[in-house]
Amino acid sequence: MWLRSQPWEAVAARFPIRLPRGYLGDATAPDDPRLLTALPDAAELVDDPGDVPDPVGEQARSPLPWVVRKHEDRVLLLLTKRCHLYCRYCFRRDHTPGEKEDPTPEEWAAALAYTRGSGAREVIFSGGDPLAVPDARLCEAIDAVRPEVPVVRIHTRAPITFPQRVTPRLVSELRARAPVWVLVHANHALELTPPVREALARLVDAGVPVLNQAVLLRGVNDDVEAQVQLCEALVALRVFPYYLHHPDAAPGNAAFRLSLERGREIHEGMRRRLSGIALPTYVIDPPDGSGKRSIGPAV
Ligand code: SF4
Repeated sequence: MWLRSQPWEAVAARFPIRLPRGYLGDATAPDDPRLLTALPDAAELVDDPGDVPDPVGEQARSPLPWVVRKHEDRVLLLLTKRCHLYCRYCFRRDHTPGEKEDPTPEEWAAALAYTRGSGAREVIFSGGDPLAVPDARLCEAIDAVRPEVPVVRIHTRAPITFPQRVTPRLVSELRARAPVWVLVHANHALELTPPVREALARLVDAGVPVLNQAVLLRGVNDDVEAQVQLCEALVALRVFPYYLHHPDAAPGNAAFRLSLERGREIHEGMRRRLSGIALPTYVIDPPDGSGKRSIGPAV
């Protein structure tokens, strides 16, 4: 009953599908944001003139496999291509099913050596989802870039899509390796279920800074009320609503895109209702690879 359209097998042949048990929770209404963003849809197979194969310009900024360098002070390391959930709007779901999902030991050693010698102050562990790898591999990676790169960021949607992944043991390992910042990705207050709230509290209670990055998605959360509810709920959970992303023009996600003008309107509506600690910066990550920049009105 949850399939948004048939034939989903055809979508799976183009874009991988993965959905953790429990993520959909009590979602039943057809316009529930969890259903809209997690379930495959035949619309993903329709080419759109606005599609950009490399929508945030990573390929030209990749000095070696599994590494992206857009800024002098930061290195992005992709631990894996796997995610617990392949979100239907995300360009990172765009890899051929069955292709290699993890670096070889040689590739990973080269990526770590590059990072240590980069002069960067921050390393961002991304993916895929960096919490889709075992604790031991994640901790080894953190330890391997220290002391040369002091600040570690983990960009993960796992606390939202698979909160059981945030085990007391994982939290303890991250705490022992401070400063480790965790950037989660919730798009709608309905995703903040009791298990998700508990997972976020485990991190915050342990002194791990947690920030949220949301994506503005047409038909999912593209109204001021939905955004205000999300941001207020995050602040109440002691999670800073850091960024609101304009959607990337990834192949197959045209149904989720909205105009910059509409996005600015929504952000302005949020600014009128939210305090400074609850208002995210509205950003776009353009295809030229120059990195995120603010596109919201001045605050
Ligand atoms: S990288 Fe994040 S947003 Fe993209 S598919 Fe994976 S979990 Fe979803």
